[in-house]
Amino acid sequence: MIKVGLTGGIGTGKSTAVTIFKALDIPVFDSDSEAKKFLLDSEVKKNLMAYFGEEIFFNGEVNRKALAAIVFTNNSALSFLNSLIHPLVRQAIELWFDRHQSHPYAVLEAAVLFEYGFYKQVDKIITVRAPFEERIKRVMIRDGITKEEVVHRMNNQLKDNEVVVRSDFVLHNAEHDLLLPQILQIHQELSSI
Ligand code: ATP
Repeated sequence: MIKVGLTGGIGTGKSTAVTIFKALDIPVFDSDSEAKKFLLDSEVKKNLMAYFGEEIFFNGEVNRKALAAIVFTNNSALSFLNSLIHPLVRQAIELWFDRHQSHPYAVLEAAVLFEYGFYKQVDKIITVRAPFEERIKRVMIRDGITKEEVVHRMNNQLKDNEVVVRSDFVLHNAEHDLLLPQILQIHQELSSI
């Protein structure tokens, strides 16, 4: 089984690509939503309470919006959060790949594959790309946020060209590109290794 990382900046179309891989019966690990699950872990909550205090809690659970508002503007808070969550996510990824050995390949979706070292856990890397202005428009519509907020989030991610040179496959997802044939070609290649 080949371990494949799927990455790309905000709004490039990773989730759209994931829908296609799943339709091809390829298992996909969504690292974002798996990471969020660890916010329910009692040991993690204890550490968050000690660092951030009551202000990020509501009814005994982490208020993700309040937490996000802090870590998006405070790098040391973000590093602290990552130091709690990332080791747990790394371990979950290992176990998940082990459980999917019977497939030709399995996909780890991570926007921050390079930034946080998850690339070390995969054999091949696919990057999704789309033009900057299109990505901004898509995310403004999808998330109901301003252009400035989208650009701020983009600035926390690696530049497209840095990611592309470290990738084995690049999916182009501009307005008139078709993802399906590009993914079918990659699927065929990965299934025949
Ligand atoms: P994030 O990192 O923020 O989760 P993502 O890379 O997963 O983003 P998607 O959620 O797949 O990106 O796409 C962003 C938005 O753009 C979605 O609303 C999606 O429906 C839309 N979109 C994706 N691809 C295209 C396309 N080729 N043309 C038009 N809209 C698209």
